[in-house]
Amino acid sequence: MIVRITQIDGKLPNLALMRLAAWHRAQGDDVRWERGVSPGLMEPAYDLVYGSAIFATSAKAVEVFRANFPGAIVGGSGGDSALRVEAIVPTQFTALDYSGYPDFTASIGYTMRGCRFKCGFCIVPKQEGKARAASPIAQIWRGDDYPRHLHLLDNDFFGNPEWRDRVDDIVDGGFKVCINQGINVRLLDDEQATAIVKMAPWDDGFSRRRLYTAWDNIGDERVFFDGIDRLEHAGWKSTWVFAYMLVGYDPRETIERVMHRLNRMVERGIRPYPMVFGGDDRRKRSPLYPTLKRLQRWVITRDYMHKPFEEYSTKRARVEVPGQASLFV
Ligand code: SF4
Repeated sequence: MIVRITQIDGKLPNLALMRLAAWHRAQGDDVRWERGVSPGLMEPAYDLVYGSAIFATSAKAVEVFRANFPGAIVGGSGGDSALRVEAIVPTQFTALDYSGYPDFTASIGYTMRGCRFKCGFCIVPKQEGKARAASPIAQIWRGDDYPRHLHLLDNDFFGNPEWRDRVDDIVDGGFKVCINQGINVRLLDDEQATAIVKMAPWDDGFSRRRLYTAWDNIGDERVFFDGIDRLEHAGWKSTWVFAYMLVGYDPRETIERVMHRLNRMVERGIRPYPMVFGGDDRRKRSPLYPTLKRLQRWVITRDYMHKPFEEYSTKRARVEVPGQASLFV
């Protein structure tokens, strides 16, 4: 069989596609990684086509892909989010095919799946269920031919009942780790704050210290800053914290409330990153959506550091979302 594998969006390697590719190779199939949503002139006829899109904003690209490859199986939250790779690949088959990402030298995987929370806007609890252990570090790392760089995609690192062992694996093994999906600082205790300082996580380019987290709900102000205080007390600088902030989800959202969250973080040296709820689905958008998109750009471009929001222009700009494709806002 000739199998086409296409990652439609996202900057980081797509684990589900990597498992599918490895599985088909193990069956003796001819696996081709192709980036385009349209077939190239030299491409063969395929027996099977897989695609994955993780952003709702990729809807157009998914439509073109499906039109070009009728019968294609498209997973991910931007495709058919109910599709699970386990429906095709047996759970015990854990091999990954990195050949679609020749420039990527880190190792990628999950030490845990699921989450202890059930935030209404998030698909993780629906897709992955309760927090539980997944792979140990030795299973994620590709071995001595590769740097000791790990991209962990865990959604709730400390929700793993085996998190202490994973911290030891990382620290004792001399790994540089990026916990891209973020640590939930709302639940952080002193032992975990110390564990973060020991692991000393990096950004997704492994170039600077960075702890990704989120402050999505204004009602979590006290617990969020309790967690930040614990981190600082343990020795982690607030300036190494990168906090996603969901805006436009709470029906009581106002610009004043958003500014309050923003200012509270900025005065502590935390780098905020607004994520505007609604995206391509106009029915889900807040009436504040256009203003929030402008605010998002104002923050992401760091113009907030030298220009008041009221004076900020609506000219379009290109921005980079960590771990994701660059986009225009
Ligand atoms: S804590 Fe994060 S991963 Fe868990 S449900 Fe909330 S948003 Fe999703």
